[in-house]
Amino acid sequence: MLVYINGKFYEKEHAKISVFDHGFLYGDGVFEGIRAYNGRVFLLEEHVRRLFDSAKAIMLDIGLSKERIIEDILTTIRKNNLQEGYLRVIVTRGYGDLGLDPVNCNGVTVVIIADKLKIYPQDFYEKGMSTIISSTRKNNADTINPKIKSLNYLNNIFAKLEARHAGVFEAIMLNREGYVCECTGDNIFVVSNGKIKTPPTYLGALQGITRDFVIGLSKKLNIEIREEPFTQYEIYTADECFLTGTAAEVIPVIKVDQRIIGGGKPGKITKQISDEFKSTVKIQGIEIYK
Ligand code: PMP
Repeated sequence: MLVYINGKFYEKEHAKISVFDHGFLYGDGVFEGIRAYNGRVFLLEEHVRRLFDSAKAIMLDIGLSKERIIEDILTTIRKNNLQEGYLRVIVTRGYGDLGLDPVNCNGVTVVIIADKLKIYPQDFYEKGMSTIISSTRKNNADTINPKIKSLNYLNNIFAKLEARHAGVFEAIMLNREGYVCECTGDNIFVVSNGKIKTPPTYLGALQGITRDFVIGLSKKLNIEIREEPFTQYEIYTADECFLTGTAAEVIPVIKVDQRIIGGGKPGKITKQISDEFKSTVKIQGIEIYK
């Protein structure tokens, strides 16, 4: 495997960054997870746009144009001869001294890794998965806004630990007011009476690229979809529930806090969305080997 670091490629075992890097010392950086399917990179421009928005929000100058990063991502995939895979792009404030002050950092560290990632077992996609609602609330949008895809994931990791302690793989997170926001690494949707709802991101959620794509798919399929605040009650009593994410794709949820959702198996609308998603990803995206 060849890993990109600041414009150069290194074998995996030699792909190293400084222990003084502010991404390592302080989580001072941003990242993206991107998928390639069938020789194409899915929604690449959208991911790169969000990467630049996240960087801007933390006042991090990536020092490369969007076009350049896109080209470097494609080169990384080509060097690794991949048709499918999961890409991780990480941009940190670079290395400085042990102090917090970003002024002492040398610039940026840009890393691109092209690999595979499977976060959930395959039978969850067919039978549905169980989740819990975590007691860890989302970071407030007026502190570190969850819209920033930063290297500070401790909030989500707390909730992920709760999930694992409860014997499940994912946890749903509420904000301070008790509104449903998202999961530790996925966005959430509920279906009731044939209509889909997902929380507005201002409540404190990442503007998921898959989330936005699924909103578009639902409209295309003429299924009513709204961005609307709701509480855990609306999850417990929903007909269907599903999560979305670049790594997770579209995954049905059939149990939350021991309450069976709908009929205890993946719902009709979830299946419709998931089928449409699977067929679209194979044909849409920037071609890697032109
Ligand atoms: N929420 C969080 C906290 C995430 O980290 C992610 C990405 N893993 C998502 C939602 C899903 O976003 P996307 O569809 O852009 O991958």
